[in-house]
Amino acid sequence: GEKTSSVSTSNSEDDLDGVSPELLTREVSRRRNFAIISHPDAGKTTLTEKLLLYGGAIHEAGAVKARKNARHATSDWMELEKQRGISITSTALVFETHGRQITLLDTPGHQDFGEDTYRTLAAADNAVMLIDAGKGLEPQTRKLFEVVRMRKLPCFTFINKMDRPALEPLELVDQIEKEFGLATYPVNWPIGSGDRFMGVYHRPRNEVHVFTKEKHGTKAASTQIIPWGDDCLKSLIPSDLFAQLQEEIEMLDELSPPLDMEKIHSGDLSAVFFGSAMNNFGVELFLESFLEYGITPKTHESDLGEVDPDYPHFTGFVFKLQANMDPKHRDKVAFVRVCSGRFTRGMKVQLARNGKTIALTRPQKMFAQDRSTMETGYAGDVIGLNNPNAFCIGDTLFCGPRRSYPGIPSFSPELFSYMRNPNPSKYKQFLKGITELLGEGAVQVLYSADSGRTDPILAAVGQLQFEVVQYRMQAEYGVETILEPIGYSVARWVTGGWAALETVGKLYNCATVKDQWGRPVLLFRNEWNVSQLLSDKPEIGELAPYALPP
Ligand code: GDP
Repeated sequence: GEKTSSVSTSNSEDDLDGVSPELLTREVSRRRNFAIISHPDAGKTTLTEKLLLYGGAIHEAGAVKARKNARHATSDWMELEKQRGISITSTALVFETHGRQITLLDTPGHQDFGEDTYRTLAAADNAVMLIDAGKGLEPQTRKLFEVVRMRKLPCFTFINKMDRPALEPLELVDQIEKEFGLATYPVNWPIGSGDRFMGVYHRPRNEVHVFTKEKHGTKAASTQIIPWGDDCLKSLIPSDLFAQLQEEIEMLDELSPPLDMEKIHSGDLSAVFFGSAMNNFGVELFLESFLEYGITPKTHESDLGEVDPDYPHFTGFVFKLQANMDPKHRDKVAFVRVCSGRFTRGMKVQLARNGKTIALTRPQKMFAQDRSTMETGYAGDVIGLNNPNAFCIGDTLFCGPRRSYPGIPSFSPELFSYMRNPNPSKYKQFLKGITELLGEGAVQVLYSADSGRTDPILAAVGQLQFEVVQYRMQAEYGVETILEPIGYSVARWVTGGWAALETVGKLYNCATVKDQWGRPVLLFRNEWNVSQLLSDKPEIGELAPYALPP
């Protein structure tokens, strides 16, 4: 049945949207939300499925597998339509376990990797970094980790596929420490790898978990838990693995810093777990620890000061807009991260950008099953709203005193392309389309500042963003456009503005463009050219890979 508690709307507290402080505190304290950052194939889908095993998914549309298959489908437009439906439903999975409500924010990967992947992290309170034990850190993980760091999110590491040939655990941990400058605390430590992966040692509890494979890995694996020091361990664990474990535990105790919760919460220490999602080894341990160490929905900074999650008025911000590709249902869904108070379907809120009052209706088709429609929401939750054209990315919604949250940053684009309108009679529609798609955050738009060319430069994080824009320009604005890729791959905002640019004179190996707010951005062919400029002309000041709206 319905798991969200039904709350009577008391008249006496109308000014506080009818919510009692006790209720808010209780609801917030049982919530945890997180997003998984990983490279394609590391096992995100598999891990998600296994996590859902531990709690009935409350809001889940379609099996996770079905989503995955759809994603693998080729991206002709019929398929893309399907894919879009899939993306909407997979924006957030909510499940209950151990008396907690967990929201897993879906970070689109594979072909639908794009700016939305980054934006999702703007709605998350915790990150789970999923790593393939055989491969170590990979490019997409690196990019996403930059955002995790910028947002100072607590970052939990799950090292997956230990049942396959794996790098040495110490080497894996070392990669994270050296490359990310992120201290680690291995909560558990693997016993063997590949065919010989048989369990983990749980450090805080000083016990060994020995796994037994279940058929198909559909159920929780059965686990034998044995205190460290128990004689039976020597008979269970082959002697070479036992000796190695003993040595490595000693080394960890000497080398690794203590389990410091404050550092975990501030994102300065990553709790590390080893396991095999496919075999369901180590997943439950991970989940338990995550529930214990992960942070509850956090305080958000606004222009009127900090807003605690149990602040009685509803507030939230739009982190993602999803447009329906189907010409017959040209609706848009705005995904809102609730920051405080209580959301109820149909409630009236105001938009900070223009002061307008909007009734929050639910999207018609957000989730496949009726039972999964979100009727109420609290801090940490994601709600989908169906008010076409009312919202922009980064919009603040509020009840009570007018306030705004800082916008969502423009994340560093890596693909650039002029978009040309070959048909002058379509000029107006072309401009309208570009402006609206920009407002929705479908793509970033830059303009050349040094070449005199006036065509907009589309800037994106993933190729699919270009395809979507081109498709929608045609379908919704009737403009056939031409894309001309430009060979840059790195964008840097000049923090010191045009004044800083003037001091350095002519620049080589980069193009000067301006963003939608007219601020200078430099485009480079590669990172090396960025370092070169910084060392040749340090007077240019800071070059930032992303920028907040002014
Ligand atoms: P995603 O792209 O990150 O969502 O990765 P998937 O969950 O689809 O996994 C990619 C492939 O790795 C699939 O063939 C999975 O069956 C496999 N896989 C995932 N987890 C494990 C694991 O723990 N062990 C092994 N051996 N294979 C795994």
